[in-house]
Amino acid sequence: MLRLSEIKLPLDHADDALRAAIVAKLGVPDAELVSFTVYKRSFDARRKVMALTYIVDAEVKNEAKLLARFARDAHVQATPDMAYRFVGAAPKDLAERPLVVGFGPCGILAALVLAQMGFRPIVLERGKKVRERTKDTWKLWRNHELNPESNVQFGEGGAGTFSDGKLYSQIKDPRHLGRKVLEEFVKAGAPEEILFVGRPHIGTFRLVSMVEKIRAEIERLGGEIRFQSKVGDVLLEDAGDGRHAVAGVVLENGETLASRHVILALGHSARDTFEMLHGRGVYMERKPFAVGFRIEHPQKLIDEVRWGPHAGHPLLGAADYKLVHQAANGRAVYSFCMCPGGQVVAATSEPGRVVTNGMSQYSRAERNANAGLVVNINPEDMPGDDPMAGVRLQRELESRAYELGGRNYNAPAQLVGDFLAGRASTSLGSVVPSYQPGVTPTDLSGTLPAFAIEAMREAIPAFAKKIRGYDMADAVLTGVETRTSSPLRIKRDASLQSLNVKGLYPAGEGAGYAGGILSAGVDGIKVAEALACDMLGIAPAV
Ligand code: FAD
Repeated sequence: MLRLSEIKLPLDHADDALRAAIVAKLGVPDAELVSFTVYKRSFDARRKVMALTYIVDAEVKNEAKLLARFARDAHVQATPDMAYRFVGAAPKDLAERPLVVGFGPCGILAALVLAQMGFRPIVLERGKKVRERTKDTWKLWRNHELNPESNVQFGEGGAGTFSDGKLYSQIKDPRHLGRKVLEEFVKAGAPEEILFVGRPHIGTFRLVSMVEKIRAEIERLGGEIRFQSKVGDVLLEDAGDGRHAVAGVVLENGETLASRHVILALGHSARDTFEMLHGRGVYMERKPFAVGFRIEHPQKLIDEVRWGPHAGHPLLGAADYKLVHQAANGRAVYSFCMCPGGQVVAATSEPGRVVTNGMSQYSRAERNANAGLVVNINPEDMPGDDPMAGVRLQRELESRAYELGGRNYNAPAQLVGDFLAGRASTSLGSVVPSYQPGVTPTDLSGTLPAFAIEAMREAIPAFAKKIRGYDMADAVLTGVETRTSSPLRIKRDASLQSLNVKGLYPAGEGAGYAGGILSAGVDGIKVAEALACDMLGIAPAV
């Protein structure tokens, strides 16, 4: 099979144009092209005439001859082997079942791969099954009622369940593990296009049923998933080499589960569990993250600037954007988790705090575009030098937002025009904010550190030079966006085990090793493989 890249065609090309372009690129008669599949399709919106760019895998006659002819052409190569291969198989008389704490993308993929290898993992998830969890989440969005154990952050599917479901990442992935994640998602009901479109997304609604299907598959393979099973403690023993070794976990209801292999796929909001692990001496460090607001514009404005005359084209969908500004005070301001045609969501997991994030449905058909507008926070900005310092800062900012919002889970909001002019908002304009349960117009400048406000006031007009209208006076800022990534890292060694606790595998976003659904899933596969290799006594996969 040959992989051809950089095949460019106009947006509205004829059905047979791609075949013709492949044949032309290879310089062969049509009959020599046996078949082809699209590996990736993306578009280049920077050009005056918008083009689709394809990467295709082509089956041809005389493949060796063509490979030799194109030996110096980086755009014609042999298709790499992307098949996933398990590192091993569990013995029939499996003596010990591994534990997976957390059933977000990382825990889901870790448990699935362990189950596929026959290790019959036991998953412990503090939240509820996804449909019950959805009802609890709506209670916050509709009735101002938060359930601290069942919300946007906690429960089956993890933090990404109520999301835009963006499925791309910039991680290095030489073993094509991201492909394995996407293929499992397709088996569970995701649209097949996620395998080939440049920036795939699935939206909230489909994620719910996919997560249920993967749960059923893990159970079919002998795994077990326990909901409302919060891990409140870890059992540690002396490993005899200066380290500890994990011997099991204790649930909040007092039940003990013994295992020498425990994956911690906690997510970035498991602050109580981080505190417990820190108290037990599990090694962790502060880590940079970012804080800011959500910004909402009419989606039409973004579409027109990004797609120009092609706005509304079915292949393009609602336009996204990615913006970065280096402010004069040394801070980077950037857009984060942009959700085209989506809504801003209440994403707190703790009482008395307000947190924003964004989600969308597959159709991305809501009237507003939203994105986090965030500023980097470095360890020296945090109150204290212990590993929990970033969590303390997040909590402080989230509490301020709760107070300013009116102490009822409404979010504080400000019009961009007022924010730039340094005056409080007292009413809203033409952009209707989508945050539920509601917003309170106010002055957001007291919710974040002064350097962040200063950097954002500089960045918004700079972004308007790239997206005309970005600084529109009626655009809405909603605060605060604090859960951008984990504020700490639970460090691990080359075998992916905790630096000082043998058998403990910190993984995914909470441990500081992923940022997003796809990378968390990839990390889940990696720790599952490392754990399996350790149990089987074989060399880890590279
Ligand atoms: P999580 O998904 O956070 O899962 C951790 C799980 O562990 C949770 O279910 C939690 O209940 C459980 N847990 C925690 N502590 C315990 C304990 N003590 N005992 C038992 N269980 C415990 N990323 C994207 O790539 N694309 C997007 O479009 C996107 N949109 C997002 C929208 C929103 C609203 C949010 C909140 C996040 C979004 N993200 C998105 C980020 C993405 O969701 C995370 O990066 C991803 O979910 C991290 O996966 P994870 O498995 O590491 O952690």
